[in-house]
Amino acid sequence: MAKDYYQLLGIDKKASKEDIKKAFRTLAHKYHPDKKGGDEAKFKEVSEAYSVLSDDKKRAEYDAYGKTFAGAGPSAGGATGFEGFDFSQFGGADFDIDLNDIFGGFSDIFGGGRREQRGRDISIDIELTFKESIFGLTRRVLVTKDSTCNRCSGSGAEPNTKTKTCPTCNGKGQVVESRRSPFGVFSVTSPCATCHGRRVVPEKPCTHCHGSGVERREEEIAVFIPAGIDNGQVIRMTGLGEAISGGGPGDLYVKVHVHADKKFRKEGFNLVTDLPIKVSDALLGAEYSIDTLDGPTAINVPPLQSVDEILRIKGKGVPMERGRRGDLLIRVRVEFPHKLSREAKDLLSKLKGEGI
Ligand SMILES: [Zn+2]
Ligand SMILES: [Zn+2]
Repeated sequence: MAKDYYQLLGIDKKASKEDIKKAFRTLAHKYHPDKKGGDEAKFKEVSEAYSVLSDDKKRAEYDAYGKTFAGAGPSAGGATGFEGFDFSQFGGADFDIDLNDIFGGFSDIFGGGRREQRGRDISIDIELTFKESIFGLTRRVLVTKDSTCNRCSGSGAEPNTKTKTCPTCNGKGQVVESRRSPFGVFSVTSPCATCHGRRVVPEKPCTHCHGSGVERREEEIAVFIPAGIDNGQVIRMTGLGEAISGGGPGDLYVKVHVHADKKFRKEGFNLVTDLPIKVSDALLGAEYSIDTLDGPTAINVPPLQSVDEILRIKGKGVPMERGRRGDLLIRVRVEFPHKLSREAKDLLSKLKGEGI
């Protein structure tokens, strides 16, 4: 994916979610294929850019690697937002309807009024070692939640059986009730309780979920954790929350807890570590062995090293874009001996005589 999604939406890399949404809304209206002067190819491009940049997890992947990892995502069945969706299947005239049907809550982008019910959001916690947080990883977690029924794929119908128009709502998917109030009669629209807004009911309900289309089960979810994630950061995984009858799934929020490390701390893209050295090495220079997150390495402490100086090992810090990495900064600390032998004292007196 060589496309620059930020450029496509005409925004910069620090754009907020609101900026991204605003930019997409404007461009989607401009290029919408149904509009006079619309441009379907452009519309698909900006939609693709929006689908990635509006999703925290995908945006982080895109920022770090210039692409997203749909395959590294969750294995859970069912529609998960834009994941793996092929925009080329969109036709011409009935585009708006398709988009709303498929993306449900997405209709608010186009100013549509119909809001679909969504499943509950779930939040889980993940603990990482310091090293895992620096390099990132894919962590598999088990989550027990309401998921799309595997037998009927969420339709609620026994496989290979037909559906019929819902008798309660006559296929409208919603029921309208008139209510009287001191201000007059108004109507309330709510999703049909029989078909859960699906408009159809199975002739023979699925034997596994009894027609709800949802079953509670344990799911393994692969959480992609980008390199350099900070303690307390939250990863949002669109569509991996709880499933619901006749509505889109909720989202899964993963809160990251990073254990502090005894040797290293993170400062932006750099890692910082302390190196205790002997007084004589500070004066004469020496080679020290030092730990990095990539393993031990040797470092030359130059002579006449002052206490406040910082040594630097390039490229042993936090991964950045395009394979680059920050540096490892080494804060040199001169350790004084706890006591001095008679000879050491004599030698130091001589040094004092030298003016040192
Ligand atoms: Zn089922
Ligand atoms: Zn109904």
